[in-house]
Parts: sequence; structure tokens; C-alpha cells
Amino acid sequence: MNNLALLGDEALALGAVDAGISAAYGYPGTPSTEIMEYLQRIEQQKGKPLARWSANEKAAYEEALGTSVFGKRVLVTMKHVGLNVAADAFVNSSLLDIQGGLVLAIADDPGMHSSQNEQDSRFYSEFAHVPCFEPTSQQEAYDMMAQAFDLSEELHVPVMVRLVTRLSHSRAAIEVKPARTENPGKKAPDMKQWMLLPAMARKQWHQLLQKEKKMAAYGETTPWNPLTRGSRTGLITTGLGLNYYKENMAEMEEIPSHLHIGYYPFPENKIRELASNCDEILLLEEGDAFVEKRLRAILTQNITIKGKLSGDLPREGELNPDNVRGILGLAPRETLSVEKMELPGRPPQLCKGCPHTDTYLFIKEVVAERKESLVTSDIGCYALGALPPLMVPETIVCMGASITMAKGAAEAGMENVMAVIGDSTFLHSGLTGLVDCVSDNAPVTIIIVDNSTVGMTGGQETRLESHRFPPVVEGLGVLKEHIRLLNPLSKYHEENKKVLREELDFQGVSVIIAVRECIEWLRKQKKGAK
Ligand code: SF4
Repeated sequence: MNNLALLGDEALALGAVDAGISAAYGYPGTPSTEIMEYLQRIEQQKGKPLARWSANEKAAYEEALGTSVFGKRVLVTMKHVGLNVAADAFVNSSLLDIQGGLVLAIADDPGMHSSQNEQDSRFYSEFAHVPCFEPTSQQEAYDMMAQAFDLSEELHVPVMVRLVTRLSHSRAAIEVKPARTENPGKKAPDMKQWMLLPAMARKQWHQLLQKEKKMAAYGETTPWNPLTRGSRTGLITTGLGLNYYKENMAEMEEIPSHLHIGYYPFPENKIRELASNCDEILLLEEGDAFVEKRLRAILTQNITIKGKLSGDLPREGELNPDNVRGILGLAPRETLSVEKMELPGRPPQLCKGCPHTDTYLFIKEVVAERKESLVTSDIGCYALGALPPLMVPETIVCMGASITMAKGAAEAGMENVMAVIGDSTFLHSGLTGLVDCVSDNAPVTIIIVDNSTVGMTGGQETRLESHRFPPVVEGLGVLKEHIRLLNPLSKYHEENKKVLREELDFQGVSVIIAVRECIEWLRKQKKGAK
């Protein structure tokens, strides 16, 4: 079978398999989750590549480094904010002498469909001094993987491939190429280049700056950055900006001179060449104004630059075929005018019968009894408890922040401080915060809502089963009598309130583990068992 209809995430995953990966590691997060899920299906069918979720993105990235040092190709997957967690390993890894190709597949979420911010991962690739490919279609997502792995091995650096939500989650037919065989396992020839002690790291930094010249030279010659001559208007597109330009092209009176950027470092010489024949430059880039911010430094002539920074395109949210028409000199599309209808709001909600609802109901009642209290929370399904009708969590910042923010608030003198965190989030980023709480005996009550799965991203496995949580918590130093297990069912409502009251009154660290499976996960399990 040579043609398949795949999501962007799946096309990228298959591209990695056909590029000869031996392993893949990642942490689930919308819109990147389907990459690993597709790889896991391939592993189930064919026995390889090894496709594993990790405890967090940093762990995933470091596990991948272990594969690379042994000479095998490896893929790492995460969503954009996950790279904040993996940043330490990622940025340092550009100094290593990468052996087996290492590609980081990162999925950005412009428009924040399912994320807490719109950060653009291209800044990270520049910050770490590594190349970045940016596909505009499922076919490109597939094709770029082979080149990304080849370049990683040629320059001995990690390579990023950036997707965005619309591409990750839309489906198209792709043509599959013959698969490459896996690399044989072989330890890196010079292990000194994998030790970032200052004396060695200085040499590695020097080498990286030399490699950077090759990365830039590749950007000038690669067919992923094509330049075509047209009118005296210059157009630069990146990522899905190309598709939105193409959708409007037929209506444009003149075809502009056009540079598309599918690879970074972007081609500065081609940009100068484009500008030398143009009176103005228009930019359509999905995400932040990454290229636009740098144009002024590259172009010394007095030339008009129109994009997001100039106010010609919205700075927030996604581009689309309609909101780019103005900058392309086209009138707004005629639309049907529909009389405004009053529709009821449909905010996201916890599923009917979700165990978190019962947990929040008893927390809410105990909170109402107290003069002062704070409920910090975290990223996961349980964050939906911040919305009506429950409205219990009062802070949601990033993975793990519930516990550490609770500690800070308690140490500032606030009373009755509770942190609500999911089982997967606790393993991802909560353990270290708990160590701090124990170390300083902070008066906080941590409520681990253990639903046996990563619910929000579709029910991936939690790294540890429920029965392993109490020994982990005890091992980190929480007193056994202040580790309380409970079942968040309405029939235990009064009993659960009593447990929470007791632990709030205790002036030290207590951990309440509320164990009840996610009903969606249970449904999935039952379906799988049939
Ligand atoms: S998916 Fe599971 S954890 Fe998430 S809201 Fe639904 S029942 Fe609750």
C-alpha cells in the first residue's frame, strides 16, 4: 500500500518509522498525542519501533539521548509547552556529538485550542542553535522526517520538526516511500563529546557555532525554501501561511515574488534577494512574528514590511484563508448575514459521572466552612473544576505548580491551603514540589486525584498504578498517618469531608489520594476487552 490517508501527526510518525527510527519517547499533550499513539499501534503490529510514554517531557528527551548515544535513530514528541519542561536537556543537547539521528517533533497550538499559551517553538530552535523543519501538509510532514534525520546525523545535532494544530489534526492522502533500515547499535566514538564539563563544553560550543554556518548554508540551498520571481510585492510565507496564500491566489491581480520558508535557520540571502526587487514585503506566518521580528535587522533598505507587528494581521490566534485577504490586497469575502441568535453557552465540563466532580463537591463544602483558604490546581481534566458549576480551583499555571504554589502561599501565612493534582501530573512534575514541602514541613494538604489515566489527552497510561502511590509518597517523607486514601463517591461524601477537615487542621504535610477511575478510561478498557 503506497497511499494512505493520515493525520499530520500520523504522517510525521510514519515518516519517522520509514526514516529508520529504533525508538520514540514522549509525553501526551494536545495536539501532539496522536504521534505516539500511531507509533504504538505500529509497535503492536510489527514489534517495533519501541514507542513509550515517559513520566514527563524532560525524561522523554533524555531517554532519547540514550538511544542516540548508542547510534540509533530516535524520535521525541511533545506539545509546545512540554518543551519548557524539556528545555534543559534540549538546549544542552545541541552541544553534544549526536550519533543516531535525534528529531524532536513538537506541536504548537496557535489559538490555544487546548493549551495555556501560544508560544512558538521556532524561538526554541533558534535559542538552542538547532535546525527546524516546518511542514505545510501531511505529505511534507512525512517527507521532512527523512531529511531531518539525515541532517541530524550529518551535522551531529538534534533537529526540530514543528507542527501546528490544524496540520496535526487534519487528514490527507500521502504517498509513502521505501523505508530505510535501522542503524546498528554502536557507542559514540568519542564519549568526551557527550560530557558537558566546562572544559569540554567550551570546545563543543565552538563546534556548534561552526555547525551553525552549515545549518545556515543548508537553508539557502534546500528546496524547502523556494524563491520565485513575480511582481514588485514580496511575499514571505511560513508553515500554513502558504496554504492560506494559495487559497486566495486565484483572485489576486498580480502574483507576488514569493519566498516560502519550510526550514530554519531561514535563508537570509534569499530574503535580501527577494527584497532587492520589491517595494514592500508581506509576511504570512502561523504563530508568532518570528521572521518578521528579524527582517529589520536583515534588510537595511527603506522597505515597507507588513505582517503581525505592523498590525496588518491579527497577533492573536490562528491565520485562516479569510483573515489574510486584507494583507493580500483582497476585499473581505462575501458572507451570508445571519441574524444574531441567542445560543446558550457551552463551556467545557467534566464528563457526567467524572470522579473529580465528587472530589470537588466535598472540597467545596469544607472550603465554605473555613474563613480563609486557597485551592491551587494544575493541568489536566480536573482543571475544568475551576469552571461553573464547581468553581473550586483558584490557580492553574503549569504542570506541578499546584504543590509548589501551595507551599509558597502556606509559608506566606495563608491558612487551609490545598493543592489538587492529577496522578499523571504528580509523577510529571509534582514529586519535586512534595520533596520541598516535606523538607520544610509546609502546612499544605495535597489532594492527588488518581483516576488511573491521563484523562485529558484521551486516556493514555499513567506511569504508575494506583497502589504504588502511597509508598512513593511515604518514601518521600510524608508521615504514614497523614497519607489518606479515599474513594470519591457520593456515598462517602461526609466521610471524605471529615478526612479533609482533619488534614487541614494538621500543621504539616498531608497527602490525600482520591482513587476512582476515569469513566471514559473504564469505557475504553471495556471496549478493548471485548
Ligand atoms: S475524561 Fe475522565 S477524568 Fe476527564 S472529565 Fe471525563 S471522566 Fe473525568
